[in-house]
Amino acid sequence: MPQAPETLPVNLPRRLLDIETIYHEPNIEQFPRAREIFARFPDTERIEVPSHWKIPGLHGNEGNASDWLKIKRNVLVLGIRKSLKCEPNGRSSDFIAPGLSNGCALACPYCYVPRQKGFANPISTFVNVEQIANFIGRHAEKQGMKLMPTAPDEDSWVYELGCNSDMSIDAAISDNVRDMVDLFKTIPNAKCTWATKWVNRDLLDYDPQGKTRIRFSLMPHAMSKLVDIRTSPISQRIAAINDFVEAGYEVNVNFSPVIVQDGFLDDYDELFAEVDDSLSDKAKAQLEAEVIFLTHNAHLHEVNMQWHPKAEEVLWTPYNQETKVSSGGGVNVRYKVSLKQPLVAQFQQRLHAKMPYCSVRYAF
Ligand code: SF4
Repeated sequence: MPQAPETLPVNLPRRLLDIETIYHEPNIEQFPRAREIFARFPDTERIEVPSHWKIPGLHGNEGNASDWLKIKRNVLVLGIRKSLKCEPNGRSSDFIAPGLSNGCALACPYCYVPRQKGFANPISTFVNVEQIANFIGRHAEKQGMKLMPTAPDEDSWVYELGCNSDMSIDAAISDNVRDMVDLFKTIPNAKCTWATKWVNRDLLDYDPQGKTRIRFSLMPHAMSKLVDIRTSPISQRIAAINDFVEAGYEVNVNFSPVIVQDGFLDDYDELFAEVDDSLSDKAKAQLEAEVIFLTHNAHLHEVNMQWHPKAEEVLWTPYNQETKVSSGGGVNVRYKVSLKQPLVAQFQQRLHAKMPYCSVRYAF
């Protein structure tokens, strides 16, 4: 007799996720989280692979965009996170924690994750959540109380959880995200954070008690329609801010990536005014922003030209961009410093004029 699923199927956004195949590492069922996920997606094909990393045919740029998007929609990878370390950060967080996933169901052409993994990088979920949570808890304990404010926060150590994924969509796969929100409620000197382009209202009942900071990424509507592929519309992200604040989250905004083109600062003026109109006093009182101007990558540009050349018309503009070597050693492009510096200053002036209560954590 077939067994009843241990957990009910989640309310998945099917245009984004309709899992048909689960690739998994050997002996994955020793982890309760893996068993829960199998029960949650009972009618899926299971394929054992030696490692969650770089599975031939799943990761990379072979085939074309329709293959990649189908993979993002229909495939899930389950693995065990082996490397556990917290890297110092200093911008949106004090530390980059070992994430519980890698890869994304969304498909932004400027995303830096495909620079490493290729565009077909479906969500890989790590099932050793207890081990990861214990590691983060011990790391925070070793830090002791925060005696001096840092840019990420005045008195809590901030841990970034979503460097290589969008945690809000990951929450549709498993309880990993809920477990992290619960974990930080128990750590007195720390909070967690992630940036998102997806509004997942299931998170509203997680009761984060102010220990989770969500950063909604925002850009002008027309530009977002062009480059934020498969994401929640900007209007939904703006509309969600008050609700997430009421639900106990700290909510910041992440103006990223800022894409330079004629009149773009005027478009941001409109966006700032719209956000200002929409926010409650309570949301305004806790708001902070981050500003990151676009970086891009020559190889990713070549890949994107095969499936979204319209986006590349605004993303790849060599006349105002220059090469830069990132802190991780990657060779990328950014806006020329002589252009970017005054634009970053103007951006902040315009933001301050429309939203004077919103301090900027960093802008570059
Ligand atoms: S939502 Fe974030 S992680 Fe996902 S594709 Fe877009 S930029 Fe990349």
